[in-house]
Amino acid sequence: MLLTLSTTHKPATDLGFLLHKNPARMQTEELSFGKAHIFYPEASEELCTVALMLEVDSIALARGRHGSSGDGGPLQPYVNDRPYAANSFLSVAIGRMLASALGGRSKDRPELAETAIPLIARIPCVAARGGEDLVRRLFEPLGYAVVLSSALLDERFPDWGTSPYVSLELSATVRLQDLLTHLYVLIPVLDNEKHYWVGDDEVEKLLKRGEGWLPSHPEKDLIVSRYLKRQGELTREALARLIAEDVAEPEEQKEQVRDEEEQKVERPLGLHEQRMGAVLSVLRGVSAKRVLDLGCGEGKLLRYLLADQQFEAILGMDVSWRSLEIAKDRLKLDQLPERQRARIELVQGSLMYRDQRLNGFEAAAVVEVIEHLDAPRLASFERVLFEFARPSHAIITTPNSEYNTVFETLPAGQFRHRDHRFEWTRAEFEQWAGDVAARFGYTVRFQPIGPEAPALGAPTQMAIFSLSAPTDIQTEPQTNA
Ligand code: SAH
Repeated sequence: MLLTLSTTHKPATDLGFLLHKNPARMQTEELSFGKAHIFYPEASEELCTVALMLEVDSIALARGRHGSSGDGGPLQPYVNDRPYAANSFLSVAIGRMLASALGGRSKDRPELAETAIPLIARIPCVAARGGEDLVRRLFEPLGYAVVLSSALLDERFPDWGTSPYVSLELSATVRLQDLLTHLYVLIPVLDNEKHYWVGDDEVEKLLKRGEGWLPSHPEKDLIVSRYLKRQGELTREALARLIAEDVAEPEEQKEQVRDEEEQKVERPLGLHEQRMGAVLSVLRGVSAKRVLDLGCGEGKLLRYLLADQQFEAILGMDVSWRSLEIAKDRLKLDQLPERQRARIELVQGSLMYRDQRLNGFEAAAVVEVIEHLDAPRLASFERVLFEFARPSHAIITTPNSEYNTVFETLPAGQFRHRDHRFEWTRAEFEQWAGDVAARFGYTVRFQPIGPEAPALGAPTQMAIFSLSAPTDIQTEPQTNA
């Protein structure tokens, strides 16, 4: 298995400083799956190429704990493509042999480590399962020019067609660290063979190495799923956390400021309390015992739910770790008596992904959350809630944008919270909710929350969806439907 990296940056031999590897010396290290060698086939001022070559010990592998799946007959563990086709051993070797460069550190050329330089990576044998198209879809969005060449399986038998292996060349002007990071993550994705055990720390590795590029990669879902070898639980966790980084986490402080801004706008109305009161009264009215608080944030609704023994099982879910930590503290979960503690669970998850933990609840509250979801992604949320979790009742609240002109502190045309992706008029919300209800077999009715202004309606709008007949619900009669 071979990877070469070349640069024409001048002097090209600076590559040796970036890699912390002397071009004049060959280095070999024993790794758990065999030997890794580093050497320089060429090292001049104009062009410098480093090779990372792995000698994979198939016999040791077959006997050791790295044993392959073994479903290809008795010889399969010994005769397979593991020693030749680029696979996750190459990533392991990059992580071990080129750790400083992968981490972006260079003792002698720190500025150069931060600089984009012309680089070409060549891997002579890549398993392009998923097709050449996939290779392009992985690397081109990252700015690489991709050259692929495939060979006939056997020149004497052209009828057999081409080999599923291709030779890959990537070129770009990038930081060495970025190139190594992209290879580190995407080589195992290309390989897609399940040959070593994927543990929780793989999620950590992926998130760490994916920082700054994976959350916005158009093939993010595929990359995560294949990197984690299609282990559903891990994939879901990673994706949920990637979204968290994408949407909420990197700007934690700002997020807090925005929350405060929104509260400042709405506080004079006591709107928050009114919202909680309205949602609780619906939940009580439908006699729900098992309830979901989706996008529970810092746990404001959860506190009310905990205080009412009607609610026997409460699940709070949010995509943001930080919010969940705050919720856990505020609710003093650690200090609750065991019986109370057993009623509530907080989990991290994204409303964009189907999640079995949400099954089996009678009612779901989604309070001031949908406006934080990208409009094109609402369709995923709709299916997650109404098709898969499918509670008997769902309560969704969202701002009524018509009311915004009443808020003295809110500049015209601005949303109440800077993270809001949209704010809907009553007509828009009712159109959306009516359409969703019809598609998923729910009925829906609407209720205003907060003081109503003539012609503008109330500041918050609430939709109450029910699988059963609407007469089950004993709340205030609707006034603005
Ligand atoms: N329901 C709470 C919080 C509302 S703020 C309350 O009324 O106080 C919106 C919340 O939605 C935030 O906590 C945010 O982290 C969460 N959120 C945003 N996108 C999400 C997603 N895709 N999945 C789950 N939660 C999400």
